[in-house]
Amino acid sequence: MVTYNKHEVREKLTINDIYELLTEWGGEPEWTSFGILSTTICHNMPGQGSRKLYYYNNTDLFQCYTGCGYFDVFDLLVKVARIQWQKEYDLNDAVRYIAIKFGLAGYAELGDQDSLIDWKTFDAYDRIGGLEIKDYHVELKEYDMNILKNLNYKVRIKPWLDEDISQEVLEHAVIGYFPPTGQITIPHFDPNNRFVGLRGRTLVKEEAERFGKYRPLIVGWRQYNHPLGMNLYNLNNSKDNIKQFGMAICFEAEKSCLKYQSYFGIDNDISVACCGSNISAYQIQQLLDYDCKEIVIAFDRQWQEKNDDEYKHWIKNLEKLNDRYKNDINVSIIYDRNMLTGYKDSPIDCSKEIFLQLFKERVRL
Ligand SMILES: [Zn+2]
Repeated sequence: MVTYNKHEVREKLTINDIYELLTEWGGEPEWTSFGILSTTICHNMPGQGSRKLYYYNNTDLFQCYTGCGYFDVFDLLVKVARIQWQKEYDLNDAVRYIAIKFGLAGYAELGDQDSLIDWKTFDAYDRIGGLEIKDYHVELKEYDMNILKNLNYKVRIKPWLDEDISQEVLEHAVIGYFPPTGQITIPHFDPNNRFVGLRGRTLVKEEAERFGKYRPLIVGWRQYNHPLGMNLYNLNNSKDNIKQFGMAICFEAEKSCLKYQSYFGIDNDISVACCGSNISAYQIQQLLDYDCKEIVIAFDRQWQEKNDDEYKHWIKNLEKLNDRYKNDINVSIIYDRNMLTGYKDSPIDCSKEIFLQLFKERVRL
């Protein structure tokens, strides 16, 4: 059996990979200034722990503040396997699992019979995982809609209006403003119009660079967050059209949906936002619930030129999504090969015409 080098694998893992694992294991992660905050899936079942499991980006280590102490991602997997899957993993199993999951192991290393069996086991796990996700529904915690009344809707959201987002669309999406933190407020609803989360988008540049543009909003010391991978933003508005057209356009961020509605009309909306650069199996299932046949992935152009490191990472991420979901749904990708949009732009950021052109030229992997 092949043994992977633990340090090598850990080094290659990105913080996005860690975030993805935490999402998959039900930790409901969220980004923070130091790294990631998650529920204590180290000693609890998903949904039962408190938010006291910290991942520090500078040390690559987790710390559980209710008693498990310090450990790395492989130790966490051993715990998760025991608690959630009733499986006893040793360190080698854990390293192998993660190396294979993220394609961090060379295929050549997997030549012998034993490791082929490993691959099969892993494949089966993935397939079972894929099947189990069907008809698996999670009802997110519903927040009190009254909180939205405390926000300011009188302020003109000038930066967004300047970007061609219409006032009608802003009102329809209940976009507000929270003066204490200078954030635009964006309520999230589940497909049944239940209010499940409130995110803030900062307009302060330095803050955006430090903490990311989007964050859950804290009002009166309460944080109105939700597991982002368990809901598609705007599906409550676009579900009927998605069902009718058999197609959904999946952006990274909420703002792109608002732009889509402004350009094409709220009545013609087929957009959703996955709120990140990952699409979870659960989000795919939500689309399948509305008979969606094709998902058009419309992610930001997170690369400066073809074949730079960011480009390779960008492509790899999309290939991974395609491989994961192509058996369930047609996957097509908006790819700005002629660089009509700017660095880090969403495909819909520049103009309606450019978006339509990119949409027509979308590719299948
Ligand atoms: Zn713990």
